[in-house]
Amino acid sequence: PHMTTAQIRQAFLDFFSSKQHQAITSSSLVPGNDPTLLFTNAGMVQFKDVFLGADQRPYTRATSSQRCVRAGGKHNDLENVGYTARHHTFFEMLGNFSFGDYFKEDAIKFAWQFLTETLQLPKEKLLVTVYHTDDEAFDLWNKHIGLPEDRIIRIDTADNFWSMGDTGPCGPCSEIFYDHGEEIWGGPPGSPEEDGDRFIEIWNLVFMQYNRHADGTMEPLPKQSVDTGMGLERISAIMQGVHSNYEIDIFQNLISAAASVTHAQDLSDKSLRVIADHIRSCAFLISDGVMPSNEGRGYVLRRIIRRAVRHGNKLGATDNFFHKLVSALGEQMGDAYPELHKQREIIEKVLRIEEEQFGKTLERGLAILEENLKDLSGDVIPGDVVFKLYDTYGFPADLTADVARERFMTIDEAGFQECMAAQRKMAQQAGKFGTDYNEQLKSEKHTEFKGYEHNHFSGTVVELFVD
Ligand code: ATP
Ligand code: MG
Ligand code: MG
Ligand code: MG
Repeated sequence: PHMTTAQIRQAFLDFFSSKQHQAITSSSLVPGNDPTLLFTNAGMVQFKDVFLGADQRPYTRATSSQRCVRAGGKHNDLENVGYTARHHTFFEMLGNFSFGDYFKEDAIKFAWQFLTETLQLPKEKLLVTVYHTDDEAFDLWNKHIGLPEDRIIRIDTADNFWSMGDTGPCGPCSEIFYDHGEEIWGGPPGSPEEDGDRFIEIWNLVFMQYNRHADGTMEPLPKQSVDTGMGLERISAIMQGVHSNYEIDIFQNLISAAASVTHAQDLSDKSLRVIADHIRSCAFLISDGVMPSNEGRGYVLRRIIRRAVRHGNKLGATDNFFHKLVSALGEQMGDAYPELHKQREIIEKVLRIEEEQFGKTLERGLAILEENLKDLSGDVIPGDVVFKLYDTYGFPADLTADVARERFMTIDEAGFQECMAAQRKMAQQAGKFGTDYNEQLKSEKHTEFKGYEHNHFSGTVVELFVD
């Protein structure tokens, strides 16, 4: 049956509530309990301490629809946006969790029941992976569920073995895939063509089975647990009979809104998908208290905003357009996330100021880039050009790389880093910072936004992210 994204989200929470799961609201994109993590990137993040036994809850089963951002750190899908049918920087992860309660058998049973009974997906379109040594999961799928052997794929890579860190809870995963049909390029998981978008992973079931010690030995956990995650947009695409996440209700409406504010004509333009994606991550990050800055979380936000502005420019937008999409987003997602309504004005204001400032140098920077490309032999943009764009025109290196990629070019990342290091050294010798355009924006922002200073991220982001 056709279901809206909102209906699917509700159906999932209702299903697991009927199986004695406590429905928990999404936590912030800024993890409250983990300074090593850039953004909340999975449903389990808010339950991490419960899994570790360091936090007690009055329930042993939970379900949630968690807002997630994967635009930096260990999970970074920023570069996939606009290129795959299934990746966003911001998405919602539906999850069910068992804290030492049920284990593999029920986790598999619940997932199958929800997909094939509640959502009535055709069984023959589904296939699963298990970790290569996990005979238990294989047998559950095969004997208990009745899935034929040739649709249970044994995978021996880390993709199917989850761990929280080098030590601590870990265990095998079983992932459920949907076959969108042979007209789409791609092969089943484990095959050389698995990166295609024909077989799309929809749900990951993680079985927390062992505790790994520093010496590498693994012993069974006293309380085995379950953590699952299903991408709401991916399951919506299936339920709405479309292949790409960008064709689902929410995205179609955001893409239309993006076309109207940029005056774009072609609704299938890749840049519209990028903008529709980026307004979600930017608006939700700001509503969770992240402010554009030059470091850590704030710099990820700034980079996403600037990428969106560049794509708008590419579509021919002459005005500041990005902040105008906040209300359209509120219409699409404000019922599920009332903070979008409550924070609307702040979100718009932050975005507008960022756009205005970057807008001042964007055109000039793009012109400089064109000039440099004219004389270029080869397909690598030299590090010093990337650096000049960064330093003088406020182009984050990943933005220049995004432009390069559209022309089947790359940037000299190492050369750029060398220029950065040289500049830092010079600044140290001079006892002051150089004229870094990004730095200027930052100080302007500080005077303008004093009122929200408390929102600035003040912890340490130790997770590395690459420009
Ligand atoms: P993929 O292999 O397709 O990148 P993943 O294995 O990285 O997905 P998990 O970490 O297992 O994803 O996350 C659980 C689920 O969340 C996935 O099965 C998928 O449905 C969804 N998901 C993951 N990353 C994204 C994303 N960037 N955008 C939308 N949905 C996502
Ligand atoms: Mg991934
Ligand atoms: Mg995967
Ligand atoms: Mg996965």
